[in-house]
Amino acid sequence: MQSQSRRTAINTFSDSDEDELSSIKPQINPTKPNGSAPAQQAAPSPAKSYDIDWDTDKVKAGDGLMRAKPGKDETLRFAVIPGVKPVAAMTHFFKAPKTGVFQCLGEGCPACAKEESRWSVAVLVAVYTGANKQTGKLTSSSNPDIQIGYLGMSATVFEMLRSAPLEGSGVADHDFAMTYDGRRYNIKLLSPQTAYSKLKVDVVELAKPFVPKLQNKVGRIVSKTELRAMVASARTSSEDSNLSDVEEL
Ligand SMILES: [Zn+2]
Repeated sequence: MQSQSRRTAINTFSDSDEDELSSIKPQINPTKPNGSAPAQQAAPSPAKSYDIDWDTDKVKAGDGLMRAKPGKDETLRFAVIPGVKPVAAMTHFFKAPKTGVFQCLGEGCPACAKEESRWSVAVLVAVYTGANKQTGKLTSSSNPDIQIGYLGMSATVFEMLRSAPLEGSGVADHDFAMTYDGRRYNIKLLSPQTAYSKLKVDVVELAKPFVPKLQNKVGRIVSKTELRAMVASARTSSEDSNLSDVEEL
């Protein structure tokens, strides 16, 4: 119940523009507090071990959907997966004792008494891992090494992405560059046509297994009691002058 009310899509951002993102409908997706599994599940299967090869891709950290972001002074080349809506939630950022992004509980939220909540947005993308890390360029000889990941962004960066497409084009039509100067993320158009479409890579198919996991990437969900305890002992971002703009989301 709580998670439903906290999980809101981003139609708040809507304006009169007829772009793809202006008609985002609320997405309601109840998840367990740890966000890792559907609420209703069959009885757990008995413990099982597996023989794996050294070159396996079965053993992965987390749920396998990794956050993509450029390192300092680097460029990350990416394309938005067509047909996959971004996911957004109101969140609070804590530095200590726990560090991370936590979902706002809405009405009566203990963290809201300390600071304003802010949007956190997750966007499913195809990342060209093989692109040049300075320029984002792909050469005909370089392997684009396309991988599916997600970008976590604040409202400011999301707005940059929303406004980056060329007139008459959608956000999924281009390749973009995300850069990081050590303080802020920036997004700009890199190529009018996506490289994956020229290479005939089906990113929609590649991304399919990751679509449901995007819901878990907009802040951890904790109980009111837990959040109250965190607030009592925490310093939230608003108390840290160096974090005036929490692009680390
Ligand atoms: Zn709150």
